[in-house]
Amino acid sequence: MGDQEEFDLIIVGAGPAGSTAAIYGVRYGLKVAFFETVDPVSQLTLTPTIENFPGFEGNGFDLLQKMKDQATKFGAVHKFENVEQISKDGDYFIVKTDTGIYRAKAIIIATGGKHREIGIPGEREFVGRGVSYCATCDGNFFRGKKVAVIGGGNTAVEEAIYLKEIGCDVVLIHRRDELRADKAYQDEFFSRNIPVIWNSIPRKIEGNEVVERLVLYNRVEDREFSIDVSAVFVAIGITPATEIVAGLGVERNSMGYIKVNKKQETNVPGVFAAGDCCDNPLKQAITACGDGAVAANSAFEFIKMKFQTG
Ligand code: NAP
Repeated sequence: MGDQEEFDLIIVGAGPAGSTAAIYGVRYGLKVAFFETVDPVSQLTLTPTIENFPGFEGNGFDLLQKMKDQATKFGAVHKFENVEQISKDGDYFIVKTDTGIYRAKAIIIATGGKHREIGIPGEREFVGRGVSYCATCDGNFFRGKKVAVIGGGNTAVEEAIYLKEIGCDVVLIHRRDELRADKAYQDEFFSRNIPVIWNSIPRKIEGNEVVERLVLYNRVEDREFSIDVSAVFVAIGITPATEIVAGLGVERNSMGYIKVNKKQETNVPGVFAAGDCCDNPLKQAITACGDGAVAANSAFEFIKMKFQTG
């Protein structure tokens, strides 16, 4: 026990929710550490253009870097370590990472989500050889080539716009006949004349060494067809990265999102959650920041009540 570094508050995640919680926690006078992992990477870092975060316009990576820098400037400790297990030891939480063991009085889970897979033949086989979940990471390899983006939400539309901008010949594939993306994104998307294949579900990704073809099924016309593409960018949403709380008895909903109340409290005293890993209605950087601030405030009140009274 003696070598375990102790913090008041440990935050698992360094996306907008985790970084904001770190800023608020440290400014409440708490000793704070926030842990960043590469799996999953914050969705914000993958966002090419941010236009709906008040006071900021630019790319998601830069916005998040500013948040993390702000947290460390005020004294929060940023650690690039993968949190593998969280358990209880009396009044304390024990946080085990790939390289260390830490103690904390309270925990904020801000782990966000991982990209969702379609689950079709060829998808996993061609990851890194034409199948990608991140246009800003991999789009450059396909300049001047025909690529497909799958999905109809904000991410898919943003990625299609980005890929078109960098010179890809992009087509959007959506399973229905209207997009889910916000109107502002749709307006921008349609103004660029990016073609859309509607009502079509991906069935197979084919090729030899690399992706060559996407096989689709038009569910209205009840017919299978294929298009020749060099890359398939999958943007069909995220699944929450919340396995880490399973052993703590933290309640999650049927889709795996952590259940929280308005104070970002979970059912386990001392464990709070913020951002995309929670069962909140809106998944945006700005709401993740709000969650993070509330979670830090609640953690502060919890620590004050439990450890500093009497
Ligand atoms: P999303 O909003 O959940 O949209 C997923 C899209 O993929 C939907 O259009 C869905 O079709 C489609 N889809 C789902 N499963 C599919 C499957 N198996 N095969 C084919 N298509 C499938 O996911 P997202 O776009 O990644 O966004 C996630 C959250 O982050 C959202 O809350 C979004 O608003 C937010 N976000 C915000 C911004 C921003 O404001 N800058 C940017 C990116 C994301 P249906 O429409 O038919 O369900």
